[in-house]
Amino acid sequence: MSTFVDEFMAALKVKNPAEPEFHQAAMEVAESLEVVIDKHPIYREKKILERIAEPERVIMFRVPWIDDKGEVQTNRGFRIEMNSAIGPYKGGMRFHPTVYLGLLKFLAFEQVFKNSLTTLPMGGGKGGSDFDPKGKSDNEVMRFCQSLMTELCRHIGQFTDVPAGDIGVGGREIGFMFGQYKRVRNEFVGVLTGKGLNWGGSLIRPEATGYGAVYFAAEMLATRHETLEGKTCLVSGSGNVAQYATEKILDLGGKPVTLSDSSGYIYDEAGIDRAKLAFVLELKNVKRGRIGEYADTFPGAVFTARDDSKDFNPLWDHEAECAFPCATQNEVNAKDAQNLVGNGVYLVSEGANMPTVPEGVNLFVARKLLYGPGKAANAGGVATSGLEMSQNSLRLSWTREEVDARLHGIMKAIHKQCIEASAAYGFEGNYVAGANIAGFLKVADSMLDQGVV
Ligand code: NAP
Repeated sequence: MSTFVDEFMAALKVKNPAEPEFHQAAMEVAESLEVVIDKHPIYREKKILERIAEPERVIMFRVPWIDDKGEVQTNRGFRIEMNSAIGPYKGGMRFHPTVYLGLLKFLAFEQVFKNSLTTLPMGGGKGGSDFDPKGKSDNEVMRFCQSLMTELCRHIGQFTDVPAGDIGVGGREIGFMFGQYKRVRNEFVGVLTGKGLNWGGSLIRPEATGYGAVYFAAEMLATRHETLEGKTCLVSGSGNVAQYATEKILDLGGKPVTLSDSSGYIYDEAGIDRAKLAFVLELKNVKRGRIGEYADTFPGAVFTARDDSKDFNPLWDHEAECAFPCATQNEVNAKDAQNLVGNGVYLVSEGANMPTVPEGVNLFVARKLLYGPGKAANAGGVATSGLEMSQNSLRLSWTREEVDARLHGIMKAIHKQCIEASAAYGFEGNYVAGANIAGFLKVADSMLDQGVV
């Protein structure tokens, strides 16, 4: 490691102990930026990266609510307002039992670079709670969301901080949070994105992250004069991102063969076609069931239960050309990465945030895979949130075709920025370095312009 990366990481670990995901995300960015900082000493002098790694504000609060049995429950709510150099804080809310401060700092840090890449004026933020919506009634979810928003509403606003969805936060949760914001603040504004179409939402927002990850994959393939047509694709997750990545893979002629949730995964050798995907959408979004039910319904599909005693995930151990990790962080470990490469996968486009461990990332880069890291490949979601904000400000709604065309254009622009930035700093074809460098430069230069704040 270089002196710069060593010193930066040592200080970050002292200040943020026991936050391994945040350390992992910061380390990857610092390593990519070393050459940039060597070339432009002003960034070092003005401590730009050190300042980017320190949230502008962290809000942490109690979320008390009453369950259906009349018992008092207490969760913890968070909002990390990481960086507002290029626009209001923007980033999702995650409801999952694993949520803690360090996890949200990693996500907020990544969001700063991702939002910068979208070409839209959005700063970075992230929030959430250790609340688990799984197994809760709609009324319990509503009471929790209302309690959370009663506190959060004093910290966010259409020009300050605009949250959206993430794991465990979909249309239902956004609706309950929006309703409470409006009631307490007495204003109908675009303070959240991912809203319902009847009350300020944008067409294509639900589809955007998954579609964007596949558009990004198509751009990467185009550099080798290839398309997705006929390619076998491994997809993980079965939530928002996985569902629409699968749909776009089908649109572009690919063959998705896997989906998963935290209980295991299904492998369908015949391919997940549109009718089977419609079943998954109903299963996950309406019935809120488990992915194993897919194999009970479609003969030929095999369900494999999650087995934590294994040191690899068998989902990543099938022959394929492309992989789309769309579940959660660090879901592709070093052995999974080797299995992917060994099985012929040469494109990985990350719908999830930081789904690949550093050893896996290094392997993909060393083997010259077409590897699109999450902060570039999944930026279509937040980009379309930015388009939802624009429509709210204009008090207009664009058509599905118009939003999709803008999303597609943004994914192409992100791909181009990655290619150009990686080439300019000697990392040709390395999308990790390209995304980190291009995302950093815009934020860093804006911070220089705005002084030490
Ligand atoms: P979601 O709708 O809640 O779906 C998450 C999926 O991942 C579910 O199938 C879930 O299974 C699975 N999963 C979650 N945690 C897991 C774990 N620890 N182990 C195994 N499986 C797990 O969430 P999403 O919006 O699709 O988000 C998926 C990923 O994309 C996350 O990394 C998120 O940060 C990223 N992302 C999302 C957006 C967006 O617009 N939504 C934008 C950019 C990036 P269970 O239901 O069994 O938990």
